[in-house]
Amino acid sequence: MQTSFTLAQLADPDVAESEKILRACVHCGFCTATCPTYVLDGNELDSPRGRIYLIKDMLENDRPATAEVTLHIDRCLSCLACMTTCPSGVHYMHLVDHARAHIERTYDRPLGDRLLRTMLARLMPYPQRFRLALGAAVIGKPFAALAEAIGLKRLAAMLRLAPWHPPHQPPVPRTYAAVGPGRKGRVALLAGCVNDLLAPQINAAAIRVLTRLGIEVVVAEGAGCCGSLVHHMGREDEALAQARANIDAWTAVDNLDAIVITTSGCGTTVKDYGFMLRTDRAYAERARKVAALAKDISEYLATLPLPAEHSAPGLVVAYHSACSLQHGQRITRQPKDLLVKLGFAVKDVPDGHLCCGSAGTYNILQPDIARRLRERKVGTIERLRPDVIAAGNIGCMTQIAAGTKLPAVHTVELIDWATGGPCPSALLEHRQRWSMHPSAAAG
Ligand code: SF4
Ligand code: SF4
Repeated sequence: MQTSFTLAQLADPDVAESEKILRACVHCGFCTATCPTYVLDGNELDSPRGRIYLIKDMLENDRPATAEVTLHIDRCLSCLACMTTCPSGVHYMHLVDHARAHIERTYDRPLGDRLLRTMLARLMPYPQRFRLALGAAVIGKPFAALAEAIGLKRLAAMLRLAPWHPPHQPPVPRTYAAVGPGRKGRVALLAGCVNDLLAPQINAAAIRVLTRLGIEVVVAEGAGCCGSLVHHMGREDEALAQARANIDAWTAVDNLDAIVITTSGCGTTVKDYGFMLRTDRAYAERARKVAALAKDISEYLATLPLPAEHSAPGLVVAYHSACSLQHGQRITRQPKDLLVKLGFAVKDVPDGHLCCGSAGTYNILQPDIARRLRERKVGTIERLRPDVIAAGNIGCMTQIAAGTKLPAVHTVELIDWATGGPCPSALLEHRQRWSMHPSAAAG
């Protein structure tokens, strides 16, 4: 694609990077076929190619974002399916990140939109604050249908996604010793922000599996939200501050073999720290090192000998490949290989390249599209008639679980169970319900 940025514009490293990305696009449109928003509605402006044109026009003319550009960029899930499909290697992720930051700087959103975004940005990355908000949401949850009926769709979406139980406590930084003689490795585990409040069993399972395999696990003091929640809202300064805090926390820990992450959306962002902080002299080098150490839990476990201590549970697992894992990190094989090796019967979900509609805060900010994507995803999963759904991302688990009676668990919970840990709680509860009310088990 031809571009016409001036030399003065190209002096800005973000513009220079976007120009490079734009020039790589050859307008072929292959990406449209795998873009969830285009697949749903067939609107070119809600396809990657359409968005690329909108971004090019906005950046080239150095214009403030318009309501139209904002609408179509806001509808983008950042699922990155377009990057997997693109034959020209267009780095859409960095382009849309730049566009979002430009929108945040130059577009005056309607008051309600602004308030909701500010609330999400001020609450979700901070476990103590978010815990209080979740506590309130548990009380309000029964009124989700009422909120929907009076047109408060985003509030209804938030209430539906909130758990029925009170949130758990954020994790305390500490070191978990390797089990058995001789330490075989040492890793930091990203405790994150939302993950441990909603589903502490995920990191607990990861810690059990890792320590059982002789790996010492450190939850570092000062590490917190990876920054992706605000990064995807275009709030760059906040995202970079959160990235720097994590880099400080992890580089203070000696002898790390890896930084292990159980939420693939966070993993994609941490792996991008080197790019995000490339112009920050104080952090660029350390950011690159941290990004190189970052590993998804399945990616790291695939490098270790994983003996099955139990006979194969033999359950049919519908493996939902989170977009951030398959498109963002290009990790597709390892989670399934690990499950198969441990005796699970793994089924791929048809149209697995399409997002479930979770996408960070997307299912709150764009509830209609998110619901349609969930219904589509749940339909394809239920037709497989699995015993359990496995995914590598809490966002997908919550989104999918809100639309089905099937239990949704993290892949590492199944790995833990098959190697000597407890049965995943969602599966156990489902089985207990099923034994009492067989009809409840029907997908
Ligand atoms: S990131 Fe996903 S939703 Fe956005 S343009 Fe690419 S394929 Fe479409
Ligand atoms: S597939 Fe790649 S090159 Fe083709 S239109 Fe999409 S982004 Fe551009």
